[in-house]
Amino acid sequence: MNLARQIEEYLPRQLLKLVRDISGQAAKQGQRVYLVGGVVRDMLLGYPNFDLDLVVEGDAVQLAQQVAETSQAKLLAHHRFGTAKLRYENFTMDLATARKETYASPGALPTVTPGTLKDDLIRRDFSINAMAISLAADDYGELVDPYQGKNDLERRLIRILHPKSFSDDATRILRGVCYEQRFSFEFEAQTAHSLKRDIPMLDTISGDRIRHELEHIFEENQPELVIERLNGLEVLHRINASLKGDGWIAEKFDEARRLKKPTQLPSLYFCLLVYSFNGKDIEEFLARLNIPAKLSRAMRDTLRLKTRLPLLDKPSLKPSGVYHLLQEYDPLAIQANAIATESPIARRSLQIFLTKLRYVRTVLDGEELKKLGISPGSQMGRILESLHKAKLDGHVRTRADEKKLALSLSLKLER
Ligand code: ATP
Ligand code: MG
Repeated sequence: MNLARQIEEYLPRQLLKLVRDISGQAAKQGQRVYLVGGVVRDMLLGYPNFDLDLVVEGDAVQLAQQVAETSQAKLLAHHRFGTAKLRYENFTMDLATARKETYASPGALPTVTPGTLKDDLIRRDFSINAMAISLAADDYGELVDPYQGKNDLERRLIRILHPKSFSDDATRILRGVCYEQRFSFEFEAQTAHSLKRDIPMLDTISGDRIRHELEHIFEENQPELVIERLNGLEVLHRINASLKGDGWIAEKFDEARRLKKPTQLPSLYFCLLVYSFNGKDIEEFLARLNIPAKLSRAMRDTLRLKTRLPLLDKPSLKPSGVYHLLQEYDPLAIQANAIATESPIARRSLQIFLTKLRYVRTVLDGEELKKLGISPGSQMGRILESLHKAKLDGHVRTRADEKKLALSLSLKLER
């Protein structure tokens, strides 16, 4: 099957020119280049996807170096893996040397040697991701589909390429459920059977790799569908015995999406995911997934703040009281609690802190207090603190208000 016309219609002009240039340069050295993986799948489905992956039968790193020299691209090469990334202003392009993989033991990283396109396709996760399109001049647009991926796309099936696939690499369980939910596909019968059988193989996967797949899931439009399904399959339970993916998570994820900038959303999902955890659960989870320090802090803060929410559940609490309670917590933890709490009063205080209180500053600073004759030291510290409190509570507004209050406080403290 030839997809030359579809490629021309699908890819933006700039990308099209680039892949043609790359393929042309490769041909001069007798190398062949293919579009592969997600972009082929999405082109056949008619979904936009401009994260291009290219496979090179030859040397991808050397080819990427040449391309970087002749176009305005930044190059990031991994000689050891035979892969390279070209970074342009609006997009990136990944080039990989066609490779063959063997797994020494389940869950381990595979041993890699150079191979043909077909070797490169059989090492992939699912048939729908194991298709390529030739970019070489002599068969431009030809679909290479040795494992009937197109047929599975039409039948709306997720299918592994061999029965040991999930045990070789159990992250594919998480990936499979992600595609199942994203496209509303089903697992082919044998694949569904292998998946259930191999869930315990998740224990062989490193924390970094599991975390990476969760991050991948958290980039979905509706990650809660994936989380609920992983829960139903008892995959979540295998990762951490206290993890849940119920209706509560679905509702809160949906709320998070309506509030948060996309860049912070995955971290917020992580905080909500552990909301029901106790102190022991969270430490186990952070260690199992090797969560980086910054996110660990936000997740721990989320749970620490949760225990203090009753203090916020008081209509009489002044803004300065809210500030005092919340200033020590990571903003992400405050946001997570605003979404999670059932108390409208606490929620309102958390939101006001995030949108207003945390930015409140006095007009006067230490230098200006000095000019008013207030000497630096503990007294000045207390005056600045009182000014800030008065500003939070709306007792002072202007510079003149602050000046007046500072002077009267200083007189009082001197007495
Ligand atoms: P998405 O739209 O989710 O990004 P994608 O197909 O681009 O889909 P990536 O995670 O970017 O997925 O991976 C690129 C390709 O690498 C996949 O299409 C798949 O063929 C292959 N791949 C990724 N992870 C694995 C894995 N664990 N085992 C086998 N093949 C994999
Ligand atoms: Mg991708």
